[in-house]
Amino acid sequence: MTEKTLRNLIVVCGDQLDEDSVALDGFDPERDAILMTEALDEATYVWQSKRRIAVFFAAMRHFRDAQRRAGRTVLYNAIDDEAPPETLAAGLKAAIARHDPERVVMVQPGDWRVRAALEGAAGETGVPLSTLEDGHFYAGIPDFEAFADGRKRFIMEDFYRMMRKRTGLLVDDEGKPEGGAWNFDKDNRKSFGKRGPGLITPRAQYQPDPVTRDVLRLVGTRFADAPGTLDDFAEPVTRADALHALDDFIANRLRDFGTHQDAMWEGSSTLNHSRLSVVLNLKLISPREACDAAIAAHDAGAAPLNAVEGFLRQILGWREWVRGLYWTRMPEYAELNALDATLDLPDFFWTGETDMACLHDMITRLLRTGYAHHIERLMGMGLYLLMHGARPYATHDWHMGLYLDAIDWVSLPNMLGMSQHGDGGIVGTKPYCASGAYIDRMSNYCDTCRFDPKQSTGDSACPFTTLYWDFLARHEQRFEDNRRMVLQVRNLHRKDAADLRAIREKAGKLRSV
Ligand code: FAD
Ligand code: SF4
Repeated sequence: MTEKTLRNLIVVCGDQLDEDSVALDGFDPERDAILMTEALDEATYVWQSKRRIAVFFAAMRHFRDAQRRAGRTVLYNAIDDEAPPETLAAGLKAAIARHDPERVVMVQPGDWRVRAALEGAAGETGVPLSTLEDGHFYAGIPDFEAFADGRKRFIMEDFYRMMRKRTGLLVDDEGKPEGGAWNFDKDNRKSFGKRGPGLITPRAQYQPDPVTRDVLRLVGTRFADAPGTLDDFAEPVTRADALHALDDFIANRLRDFGTHQDAMWEGSSTLNHSRLSVVLNLKLISPREACDAAIAAHDAGAAPLNAVEGFLRQILGWREWVRGLYWTRMPEYAELNALDATLDLPDFFWTGETDMACLHDMITRLLRTGYAHHIERLMGMGLYLLMHGARPYATHDWHMGLYLDAIDWVSLPNMLGMSQHGDGGIVGTKPYCASGAYIDRMSNYCDTCRFDPKQSTGDSACPFTTLYWDFLARHEQRFEDNRRMVLQVRNLHRKDAADLRAIREKAGKLRSV
């Protein structure tokens, strides 16, 4: 292709590595080109871990190579080029200036900020831009809008049931749910008990090939001061590895996924979880591939219904639901702070240096691996930040920095909404607040901790328990009319005044560090 003969300049962002992307439909190797940019700004706009940067760049470079092998032109700005563009927008403007395309095409990016920047850049050059709905998801944004329109009761469960009927997944010919129920949550909340999780086949490891090793060297040098580590990097970063990771989950962990979905255990995050969020969010595999594989395992008698339905609920339900919320509520959603939380995150959220056995284990592991499972996020780290009173958007920034699977569309509603109740009840109708007793029930952390989950005052008081009562007291008026909080508020009222005063004093000290 000579310069100035370009028809479509197709922008592919780091989280759009979908070989079946609608943006590539009808690709003409003679007249079209893909544009990819490793932008410094994307690696630094929040302080983010080396591992997270490496996953993105490694997966992008493998996608570039696969597209080139398929005969497509890929214009690739690498961060170690001589003068790489600092931002995605600068990369786009430079490519437009150089190649003078008839139009720019992109799939809806995963971040409102990125969409605005790319639209702005194309707008400045005057080249028309087509932004396409992302075919990766089961539901388009117009589908979500149609579901939401005029609805008084607006909850995930109704959306999920609608999606089950629409897709026919685990639904019989009469539109009834397989197994006679839409929801097996009551079977899926068990702890591991004293004996622990037992032997679980460890998830597959993917040894870095030369392309990934180059990225690891580059990131290790260029981002030496970033948090986290690149040691033992074995993430799936190609389509083939991602498909293998899906098979590995289906064969080895899906059957026990449901029952202990909410359980935690010191020293391990994966347990029976899929570890597929990263490859799903990079679009290396599709949600259809994941759900179809789980249902096929059930049909073959290899996985029980509660596990398969639980897995489907996460992907067809929660994942699609939060995306719909994000795109229909941004940019205002990012500003929400219903509980007027104003504090910074405690420093130990960046180091793991705390006496709390649970948070020490979760945060140090997160720094090492870039992963924690859902309940560790919600009822461990997120719970502490909620009751501490951290600014919801700051918790999202922290989450974006450390988790390999964090993309704005999914991190923001989960962190600011579900976990911090910053949206005042859109994602969840009540805040996920609990004392140390919850962690004690669902894990073995408290057995070795210097704190006592039953104590709210005194030297051995569990900080979760102290902050829990303080949180309820601080927000009592807001929550006393919430049907789902009645019991918790009633228990607060049973506390005598002196006890409550001591709790609040101790909580004040905890919150001031
Ligand atoms: P599994 O437990 O095996 O679940 C299967 C899949 O379901 C996941 O891979 C994921 O794609 C999907 N899923 C499950 N729950 C959700 C959810 N609430 N929202 C969206 N997808 C879901 N998930 C992200 O992908 N990126 C995030 O940035 C993110 N931030 C979160 C922040 C908080 C505070 C909380 C409570 C949850 C967050 N989640 C996020 C959802 C969920 O915790 C992760 O998807 C999950 O832990 C990833 O691990 P897994 O692949 O082993 O998941
Ligand atoms: Fe965590 Fe409290 Fe249990 Fe310690 S006692 S592990 S701080 S919940």
